[in-house]
Amino acid sequence: MTTTETIRDIDHLILGAGPAGLQLAYFMDREQRDYLVLEANDRAGAFYERFPRHGKLISINKVYNGYTERRAQLRYDWNSLLCDDDGFNFQNYTDAYYPNAQLYAQYLRDYAARFDLKIQYNTWISDVSRAEDGTDRFIVRDADGNLYRSRTFIVATGVSKPYVPEIPGIELTENYFDMSIDPKDYADQRLLIIGKGNSAFETANHLLNATRVTHLASPGSIKMAWQSHFFGHLRAVNNEFLDTYILKGQNSVLDANIDKIEKVDGEYRVNITFTHAEGQRAEMAYDRVICCTGFRWDPKFFGENCRPDMACEDRLPAMTSGWESTNIPNLYYAGTIMQIRDLKKTMSNVLHGFRFNIKSLYNIIAQQHESTPYPSHKLPVAAEPIADKIIDRVSSDAGLMHQPGFLGDCMVVDRETGEARYHEGLAVDYILDSEFGQQQDYYIITMEYGDFEGNVFSLEREPHPEKAYNDAYLHPRIRHMRGNALIAEHHISESLENDWRLNEHCGKRKLIRAIDFVGQEDPTQYQQTHFQKLVCFFERQLAVDTASATPMCHESSSPTACSTACEVSEKA
Ligand SMILES: Cc1cc2nc3c(=O)[nH]c(=O)nc-3n(C[C@H](O)[C@H](O)[C@H](O)COP(=O)(O)OP(=O)(O)OC[C@H]3O[C@@H](n4cnc5c(N)ncnc54)[C@H](O)[C@@H]3O)c2cc1C
Repeated sequence: MTTTETIRDIDHLILGAGPAGLQLAYFMDREQRDYLVLEANDRAGAFYERFPRHGKLISINKVYNGYTERRAQLRYDWNSLLCDDDGFNFQNYTDAYYPNAQLYAQYLRDYAARFDLKIQYNTWISDVSRAEDGTDRFIVRDADGNLYRSRTFIVATGVSKPYVPEIPGIELTENYFDMSIDPKDYADQRLLIIGKGNSAFETANHLLNATRVTHLASPGSIKMAWQSHFFGHLRAVNNEFLDTYILKGQNSVLDANIDKIEKVDGEYRVNITFTHAEGQRAEMAYDRVICCTGFRWDPKFFGENCRPDMACEDRLPAMTSGWESTNIPNLYYAGTIMQIRDLKKTMSNVLHGFRFNIKSLYNIIAQQHESTPYPSHKLPVAAEPIADKIIDRVSSDAGLMHQPGFLGDCMVVDRETGEARYHEGLAVDYILDSEFGQQQDYYIITMEYGDFEGNVFSLEREPHPEKAYNDAYLHPRIRHMRGNALIAEHHISESLENDWRLNEHCGKRKLIRAIDFVGQEDPTQYQQTHFQKLVCFFERQLAVDTASATPMCHESSSPTACSTACEVSEKA
């Protein structure tokens, strides 16, 4: 920077007006923070004008879900960003279960306008460095040479570059990023798609009518989202192709290393080594080869004194549990790139997960840079109101449900004042790493899947509430903590509707009218059992002297009987 250049000072600079940048800007704006979003395009949400290439979102939009309360509707509306205007949501744009991506781009543009977010469009950021005047502020330069200086810098630039594996001859291939999507261009062709993720299957399905043969190949086997619960694994909406493979429709899924790709006499010769056939090799011939091997984050705008650490083979930035760079203080990340913290486990890579991460990120930034305590509600230190609050949260919150085991609530108990402070929707790792994890008496509330093996569609279900710790399905888990030590934990059995409130489903029409289950013939009684067991857990835990309590082994699976003679679904 020269002495004659003018510079614009802003507290919080956000880079990118995709859904992540908009979501963070919304929270900044609501609290009247000094912020600005810089966006290369002349409009918000441009990613969705181009991707997914075949035009359909795989995040669901279930309009008829029976709920009238917005927070519960968000469990089935995976696309709307969070806001206080319940009437403004993506479900007003379409009732398609898998919506059109262009409509979503329109919704994002409207979101930016509806909340009058401070976005400067047509601003391509080409250089980011740190001031060397002792302030450590970020100095950001756009392609027109304009300068900005900020206290925090939040990168929400998504994954904009194709990830291309190192295979000899890979440069000869086409890429999902810019391939033709007109099936006519593939008529009667032999097609190899490298990759087995959603973009590979989306492409294969789209071209199914046209190609003479389609092969999908990569070294690892397909992972189904219904088995792993990870959205990035193959979604059922994209697996029509699998059926045509297994039922011999001239399509195949090959587990194989691609050793070499050459172009000979106008066709691709591809040498492969099968993964599960004792090293058997083959040379295959194709008319086209398309890489659907994923995307990566592009950090090219960072200068010498501001290069952030990278992770995951340099595909994503390395970050702390508070989504801050591991080596550049006050540099934060928002959006799909947050996925490095729960890679291939939960949903930070997609909208329905990262919108809740960003709410928490906003609160962390406000705490660290605006001296605003992390928001909380006060509760009396008494079992019933605490149990009420938890049942309400696990029955209605979408963040706990969509980020299982990753986002959790944290309730800190102060027995001297008789007051508990209930904080919503933090990353569990952040709870443990931050001052929350230093508290001598606190609880972490999550929803989690249990361990299971085998076919997810034929699992034995644990019907006994006192053995809920065995539950393989999504269910609430409450941990009593002292520092990083686990004192006791309680599980609540899964519920068909993910709703444990006493009046059952709070929507208009009940689903379960009767349930014949260990002597409990009506569902209210069934719900009451869960509530009572939770109250029972808190009555005992609130009486425990945490300073002298023996921590339990995290791996322990042996439950103990409750001292009040009712068996409980907990480990202690
Ligand atoms: C093929 C594909 C399909 C997907 N489908 C879905 C789906 O159906 N549902 C779902 O929930 N998720 C989906 N995702 C995940 C998807 O990446 C995110 O949901 C979402 O787009 C990420 O939002 P974001 O705001 O983090 O990034 P983006 O939406 O990518 O936004 C980043 C913004 O930053 C701007 N930008 C980048 N660099 C600069 C710079 N140097 N200067 C200024 N501006 C810059 C860009 O112009 C862009 O507007 C998909 C991802 C891929 C790769």
